[in-house]
Amino acid sequence: MVGHQTLKDWERGTKSCSSVVLDVKSAREIVLKHCLQVGRESLPTETVSIWECFKRIIAEPIVLDTDQPPFDRSMRDGYGVRAEDVKKVPVLLKSVGEIKAGDFSSLDIKEGEAVHIMTGAPVPGGVDAVVMVEHTERIDAEHVEVLRPAKAGDNIARQGSEHQAGELVIDAGKIISALELAVLATVGKFRMKVFRRPTVGILATGDELVEVHETPQPGQIRNSNSFSLYAQVLKCGGLPVTLETSRDNVSDLRRQMIAGLKNDVLLVSGGVSMGKYDLVEPVFKELGIDVHFESVSMRPGKPTVFATFGNRFVYGLPGNPVSTFVAFELFVKPVLNRLQGLQAGALCLIRGTVQNEISEKSGRTAFLPARVSIESGKTKISPISWKGSADIFSAAEANGFLVVPLETTHLKAGDEAEALMFDELEFESESQF
Ligand code: AMP
Ligand code: MG
Repeated sequence: MVGHQTLKDWERGTKSCSSVVLDVKSAREIVLKHCLQVGRESLPTETVSIWECFKRIIAEPIVLDTDQPPFDRSMRDGYGVRAEDVKKVPVLLKSVGEIKAGDFSSLDIKEGEAVHIMTGAPVPGGVDAVVMVEHTERIDAEHVEVLRPAKAGDNIARQGSEHQAGELVIDAGKIISALELAVLATVGKFRMKVFRRPTVGILATGDELVEVHETPQPGQIRNSNSFSLYAQVLKCGGLPVTLETSRDNVSDLRRQMIAGLKNDVLLVSGGVSMGKYDLVEPVFKELGIDVHFESVSMRPGKPTVFATFGNRFVYGLPGNPVSTFVAFELFVKPVLNRLQGLQAGALCLIRGTVQNEISEKSGRTAFLPARVSIESGKTKISPISWKGSADIFSAAEANGFLVVPLETTHLKAGDEAEALMFDELEFESESQF
């Protein structure tokens, strides 16, 4: 806890004069160190039905309940035969019955016999090959002529030939996508344990902010950060909880932060720069929230504050909309991943060639909104002309950020660089097939 004196110091605007500015890598390492302390075993889980688990992270290993296929299965519509009988063709066989998918036949075919069988049906006794219907000719109700030879095993998937009962098919910590859903259905898993979605309080701060349905008076602007953060949280699997906007005074901030701390993560936007009314950090300290860093050498997003409060994660994100957005991607995402049992650290980076010249004089790592596309197999990074960290309109055209590292001041068209992706890559539509 800091004393009243310190709060007053902050109010006098002495913030950060002596504070350490971390490079992005070191700042991320601090975030990762804190989120790796959260053991997967300690994460809360809940049980949901298969209908509710799409995009959730499974918290239990899934094993196969039966062999796959569960029985010797015909892979074609055709005739089940003894391979021995169809070495020489054409050959006339006696058709002794029909088996469709879903049937289970106790038939046992003898020399010179065949059985009409459908894709997905269990292969009966005696049959060791299936000849595709296209390679046969039905002569009459009781006879079929086989026109092509077959070897033992042709067009039959043997029981357990793909996977065996007891095999691990989905491990805990995996995201359930469409094909995992099919796996869960195949093994009969109707209800399963998934990691609980972390709740994320979103608190916008600022005397100038009005809400989306309001008309700003002179000096006012609409709160947009709550909406971009809301979407970013949802995209990461979190449950956003939007709090009422706080004004730039200690009592309002204190009250709203206390309410927000009921969540696993609290995101406060605005009020973290050098202004006289940037009071977020002193209130963090007053509430006993542990601040781990408060400034990162990046553009946009320098005044990013990362803190913890017991097992909760707390952020002071810079007020400018693009800054808040970038800071979330770099520092909040790993925590939300970790709180759902996922790997925390991976960044969605892609290498490509820069399409236009960039000069970067900030002396910080720059994240410049860019359109990243794959054209004829080559990754192109096209920085978007933007007017800085408040320019959400230009940034909204981007799907990633061109990363200009600390030591780089200049990039020419054609230079290789990295882009941090936050949306889908753009692919050229022409087919390469
Ligand atoms: P601050 O960090 O509070 O000094 O804010 C920096 C800039 O971001 C100021 O121009 C604010 O008006 C703007 N800003 C702060 N919060 C928001 C918000 N929730 N939505 C849009 N702009 C904001
Ligand atoms: Mg403000």
